[in-house]
Amino acid sequence: MALALAVLPLPPGGDRPNEIGLAIGLTLLIVATVAIAPWQHLPRFAEVVPPLAYFVVIALLRESQGGALSGYSALAMLPVFWLALYGTRGHLAVGIAGVASMFFAPLLLLGPPDYPAAEWRRAILWICVAPIVGFTVQALVAELRTRAEETRLALANIESVATTLREIGASTDPDAVRKSVCTSAREISSADVVQLLEPDDEGRLTLTSLVGMRIPRAGEEAGGGLAYMSCKPVFLRDASHGVKHGVRSMHFEPVLRNDEVVAVLVLGWAQTVKELPMRVESGMRMLAAEAAIALDRARLLAQLEATARTDDLTGLPNRRAWEEQIPRELARAARDARPVCVAMLDLDSFKSFNDDRGHQAGDRLLKQAAAAWTGNLRASDMLARYGGEEFSLLLPGCTITDAEAFVERLRSVMPDGETVSAGIAAWDETEDAESLLGRADKALYAAKREGRDRLVIA
Ligand code: GH3
Ligand code: MG
Ligand code: MG
Repeated sequence: MALALAVLPLPPGGDRPNEIGLAIGLTLLIVATVAIAPWQHLPRFAEVVPPLAYFVVIALLRESQGGALSGYSALAMLPVFWLALYGTRGHLAVGIAGVASMFFAPLLLLGPPDYPAAEWRRAILWICVAPIVGFTVQALVAELRTRAEETRLALANIESVATTLREIGASTDPDAVRKSVCTSAREISSADVVQLLEPDDEGRLTLTSLVGMRIPRAGEEAGGGLAYMSCKPVFLRDASHGVKHGVRSMHFEPVLRNDEVVAVLVLGWAQTVKELPMRVESGMRMLAAEAAIALDRARLLAQLEATARTDDLTGLPNRRAWEEQIPRELARAARDARPVCVAMLDLDSFKSFNDDRGHQAGDRLLKQAAAAWTGNLRASDMLARYGGEEFSLLLPGCTITDAEAFVERLRSVMPDGETVSAGIAAWDETEDAESLLGRADKALYAAKREGRDRLVIA
């Protein structure tokens, strides 16, 4: 508007002071409105008002300066650009209608006689150029914004995968690793559900982790099976069978390790996804590759952990596992106010057994004794190989009478006609694990002193 007013003194000039005065007044009003109006609180569509008022200013000035001869027509394009850049399609459409009115209103209201013959043609050309330029610019801007958003999301994906990797790196728990993988997959894909399926010992795909609700088994198996067999990602735009379970589109991403599928990531969206975006596709591939290594590593670590707590010969928990578990069990017993008994068992004259029958026969006896006893345990009992031919037994929820009967039964199933001595102690509800075990051990020595093949209560 300032530009339009600035070039006013230049020829051709005109003698229409009313229009010029009106244009200047309106300009001041627009500037004041733009400065004062509480735009944040007004509906967005109000933003189209100043450009429309601007058209009136330009129309007035143009009219006063001889219409097409004025050269003001080009100024009609400025709001079109502005609305194309910052407005919606609706804003732009209204702006173009403004351009049309700016050219046609004077022609229709004031009539063509005042105007040269070229006036109509120019008006039509400008009015046709306005939407072409406007919508093209708007489409380009939208495209640029989409690309910028895609790039932003792709970077967020990389960050998400990197975060997962850090979490995975810090974790030795396979379940935590699985959860991290699923959470990351959900962030990358904005899926409503993510599941991890892994083949069990019989090769059946089994759910091992889940974020979001549960997809019906048949659904996850169908696509999961396809991804599993083909080693390729499978995308289902219309998982129509899943709809009644709240899933419309699904994606199955195989997790490959040395060309072998070790898991399948299942994604489900509540809304139809027309096409899997490139960034999701590549993000999932990246995540699956990392997941394969992470799952492998977690499995190995878990195996290592289990091995470190298991006795090789008997397969029983070893002393390390026992010492970790005992304080937990005592804490639980204290919480539940339940009794706990502990027994120490030691094979009798095992040295002579070894000497007479050989060390391998001795090993066999240890194994057989462990197996025979394990067969008699309840799920909550814990039998550990404490060391050599000594075993420790934890009996949660057992009174000393129960424990006595139970240990007598264990003693009676000793293989090969060999005997075992035992000492048992009931937890006094205050002592620590060391003292409890010490009392059981003393009772065991008492049993040995009294002639072996017997049980002594601490
Ligand atoms: P006691 O009745 O007083 O317990 O006599 P013992 O001979 O059983 O006790 P001692 O402590 O003198 O001997 C324990 C033996 O157990 C010595 C050791 O060679 C044997 N032993 C310890 N661990 C193993 C094992 O893993 N395999 C075999 N074959 N023997 C073992
Ligand atoms: Mg011993
Ligand atoms: Mg012994």
